[in-house]
Amino acid sequence: MNLPTFSGGIHPPENKHLSSAYAIEDAMPSTKTVAIPVTQGGAANVPCVTVGNSVAKGQIIADGTGAFSVPVHASIAGIVKKIEPRLVTGNTESLCVIIEADGTERTNYLEPLNPFECDKTTAIDRIRLCGIVGMGGAAFPTHVKLNVPSEKPIDCIIANAAECEPYLTIDERSLIEEAEKIIDGLSISMHLTGAKRAIIAVENNKSYTTEHLKNIIAKSEKQNIEVQLVETKYPQGGEKVLIKAILGREVPSKKLPADVGCVVQNVGTLIAISDAFRLGKPLVDRALTISGSGCEVAKNLRVPIGTLIGDLIPEVIKLNPGVKKIISGGPMMGFSMLNAMFPVQKNTSGVLFLMEKEVSLLAETPCIGCGNCINSCPCGLTPVMMLRSIKAEDIDSAKKYGLMDCMECGSCSFVCPAKVRLVQYFRLGKIKACAAMEKAKAQISAKKEPFNECTI
Ligand code: SF4
Ligand code: SF4
Repeated sequence: MNLPTFSGGIHPPENKHLSSAYAIEDAMPSTKTVAIPVTQGGAANVPCVTVGNSVAKGQIIADGTGAFSVPVHASIAGIVKKIEPRLVTGNTESLCVIIEADGTERTNYLEPLNPFECDKTTAIDRIRLCGIVGMGGAAFPTHVKLNVPSEKPIDCIIANAAECEPYLTIDERSLIEEAEKIIDGLSISMHLTGAKRAIIAVENNKSYTTEHLKNIIAKSEKQNIEVQLVETKYPQGGEKVLIKAILGREVPSKKLPADVGCVVQNVGTLIAISDAFRLGKPLVDRALTISGSGCEVAKNLRVPIGTLIGDLIPEVIKLNPGVKKIISGGPMMGFSMLNAMFPVQKNTSGVLFLMEKEVSLLAETPCIGCGNCINSCPCGLTPVMMLRSIKAEDIDSAKKYGLMDCMECGSCSFVCPAKVRLVQYFRLGKIKACAAMEKAKAQISAKKEPFNECTI
């Protein structure tokens, strides 16, 4: 049977067998200290606690005032010890609130709220107040995603359970262990957007989960939720790629899924939506995969947001000698980290400890113009021309070849025989493109002329 898929893409070694059989276990480091970045998706926040404050789990500790602001909450009950920059995913420093546990289980959750009986404004505000962002990687504010303007009618919600990144199995475990909450989060999303149907998209390497999902859907009596297998191919879980594969709709450049009548939600986000209404629980913890041959045993863990990965070693995460690389996220789109002392954030779906055999150490050589990168690109871009433009400092040309539409999936780098680090060039190119835009904006505003906001 031909399953829905897309053109281009790659088949990297999956390595999901390392962790897929392990149920999600709760973990907390014995240090009982968390470092919570004050901004984790959406507009920049500022702390609303000071050093010495006593905080309860679920209490807001940072927020902003913009429409895209998403509050951040204390993930444990304790005392604010410091507010200082710390290493975070991406190897940058970000302002964090450091909380030391006081040994209590005090919580500051909201009252449960029936999403089907309250008005839409109250429901959308509940999602924002609970600090929910996309947990699959992009950390886009969920209250914005679900508050679709009436001129963009939504007919379908897609639950993204493709989980195409090698090694990661946390979505797979969630399908097995928390299917009821996923269905509930989907129903709430449909109610808020007016969508008449929902599709749970699962790659066929997890086809064994579909009967279980269908049983839960049948029990919930939700007739309009389907399960759809898609071909196992990377990056099948890319938002635009998935929409094209399942619905046959092309999301145009610089547009969003809502522009083609759908909303895509990661399964972790759907669970968080259900918890926000049924338990009044803010997004204070998350489940993630810990894997790679560097681990004695790979795992799926649930930890408080802000847990430092290094604090889980060696009590929870036992490593083999000779770890070569630590990655926050998956091997294709994740970030190679300087060390393990970085916090789990709302969008940290996994952390990998890789050995030499799993790490490409081949040196980059000059491009040979083979065109493999073009054939692999799921977005139909011409990576080699983007590369040449960026190397020539011609960012405008790189943009014409599609630089700003690049989803940084790494398929082109994977197939490149010259081992050109294409994604790194594209990230650099995007930084330069945005810097040029900011400079132009500043020059024009100095002349007091109107200027359209950067939409890239
Ligand atoms: S795959 Fe690598 S070597 Fe081939 S054209 Fe693209 S960048 Fe050049
Ligand atoms: S150009 Fe971008 S979207 Fe295309 S394969 Fe490379 S990283 Fe992926």
